[in-house]
Order: sequence, then structure tokens, then C-alpha cells
Amino acid sequence: MNRFAPSTTGRAHPGTLLAALLCWLDARSRGAEVALRMEDLDPQRCTPALATAMGEDLAWFGLDWDQVSVQSSHQARYHAALDRLADAGLLYACTCSRSRIKALARPAADGGFAYDNACRDAAVSDWRQVAGAVRMRLDGAISIRDEDGTDLGQDVAVAMGDPVLRRRDGAVAYHLASVVDDAASGVTRVVRGRDLAASTAIQVAVQRALGLRTPVYRHHLLVLERRGTKLAKFHGAVGADVLCEHYGSAQLCGILAHLSGLRDSAAACHPHDLIADFSWDRVRVRDQVLDWTGSDLVWGGDE
Ligand code: GLU
Ligand code: ZN
Repeated sequence: MNRFAPSTTGRAHPGTLLAALLCWLDARSRGAEVALRMEDLDPQRCTPALATAMGEDLAWFGLDWDQVSVQSSHQARYHAALDRLADAGLLYACTCSRSRIKALARPAADGGFAYDNACRDAAVSDWRQVAGAVRMRLDGAISIRDEDGTDLGQDVAVAMGDPVLRRRDGAVAYHLASVVDDAASGVTRVVRGRDLAASTAIQVAVQRALGLRTPVYRHHLLVLERRGTKLAKFHGAVGADVLCEHYGSAQLCGILAHLSGLRDSAAACHPHDLIADFSWDRVRVRDQVLDWTGSDLVWGGDE
């Protein structure tokens, strides 16, 4: 079982569609199932309408799913996992402000700032009573490799700091929700963009604390866009609501198949046409730049 787990904070963009396509092809090319999981736990950024639109965008692109779920309906299982971690004495209340952590100036592998575990002594037995963030104590190094051989191991508590599992605003954090849902759906392969590679060791640490199996991880290239003079993960430039006015879904699939290395030309194709020849050996390793001119997508090659 594979899963595609987009954050439903906006419409699908070319980066979302490429990630969905690769995840789906990885499953379909081995005759496996693939689930769509809407990650909608951020109350500030997610709305039910965006989750619905994400499902429609992916269907328009030509992808189908064996299961569809929405994380906001899984609160009970996340809370049960927090109870187990609290019973194991692993949860603590963290009152540190974001500015305090920033001022520590310890760059973390995921691009943010590492936390210094300053509140570790504030262990809680009832995490529901905590007004601030709830973190999990992690001890010891995690060894894990990507399926492509990349070393994803980390001493998480040092490299990133103990993770927040329940946010200050009450929302269950991504790492916990992701791990609990992967286990609940019987996910055996996590195929996702390279921006999430640095989160893998944290997720494996949480799995181990909960006694859950670790899936195989495969991280792939990203679609980048130019923002000013910088390159960033493709996000803002254009969404499926606008793309579909300029491209048919098969045309867009052709562009993404060409850009990712699956096809030698950008001729229109359907995701199903790519199943038979799919192999990670064909997929480009390096991130690729895609520009939106306002009416066209222009592939600019390697980053
Ligand atoms: N929701 C996360 C994102 O869209 C991805 C989660 C995952 O694949 O683990 O960035
Ligand atoms: Zn703290």
C-alpha cells in the first residue's frame, strides 16, 4: 500500500501533480494499492473546500485511489497514540516561544531551527491539560536509508530537537498524524518529495516509540520555481484551477512525464500510459525548474 498525502492548503500545482503521479505509478507498476490522504490538520490554512478541490484536481489529472481519507476525521486515533506516549513518560509540555528557539540559531536539517530540549523535565501524564505545545522526548540516533541508498539517519534530538506532537493551538502535528495514519492504512511504501527526507528520522523515531512498523521510504525530485533570484519548491505560481484553462490533463501529464525523465518527449499522455515502463531508474534525480509565464509552463532544466 502506497499513500499520497497532500496538505490541503491550496489547489494542486505542478509539484503536487508530479508527486502524486510518481507515488501512484510506484504503486500501480507493482500492482499495489494507493490511498489518498488529505492532510488538513492545520486549522489556519486548511478548509473543507480545499480538500474537495484537491480531490477534484487529482481526478482531473487522471489518478484514482483505493482509499480516500481526511485527517481531521482521525482525531481519536491520534489522541490514543498521545495517551500511549504519555503513559510511556515520553511527553512533556514546552512553553518556549518561537523567537526563543530562533534566537538559539541552531539550523536544523529541515530548513528550520533546532530546539534545545530545554523543557524536557516538564513530563506530563495528561497531555490534554497542557495549554502550550506538547513535545516528545527522543533519545538515541536513528539509522534509516532511503530506498535509493541515501542515508537519512539522524540523532534527532540533537539535529532537530524533540518534535512537537501536539501544537500550541491544539492541532495534532504532522509527524504524529502521518505515522499513525500510515500504520492504520497498512502503508508499506512512502513515496514523496525530497523536501520531506529530513523528516524521516523523526517519523521513524515516533514509529518505534509506538511499536509501529517502518515502511520503505523513497524520496524524489522536486519541481522548483524561480522566486526573484531564488529557486523554491514550486508552490505559488499556478494551481490546477488556472492550469486547466490552459492545458488539457493529458498535455500536462506529458509535460511532467518529460520533465521527470519518464518520457523522451512531452507528447500528451495519460497516467495509465506510463505504468508499463515505469522504473525509478528513468526518473531524474535532480530537481527541475518549471516557470509559469502567465499562460505557459516552460521547463528550464536542472536546478
Ligand atoms: N502533507 C505533506 C506535504 O504535502 C506530505 C506528507 C508526507 O508525504 O509525508 O508536504
Ligand atoms: Zn521548551
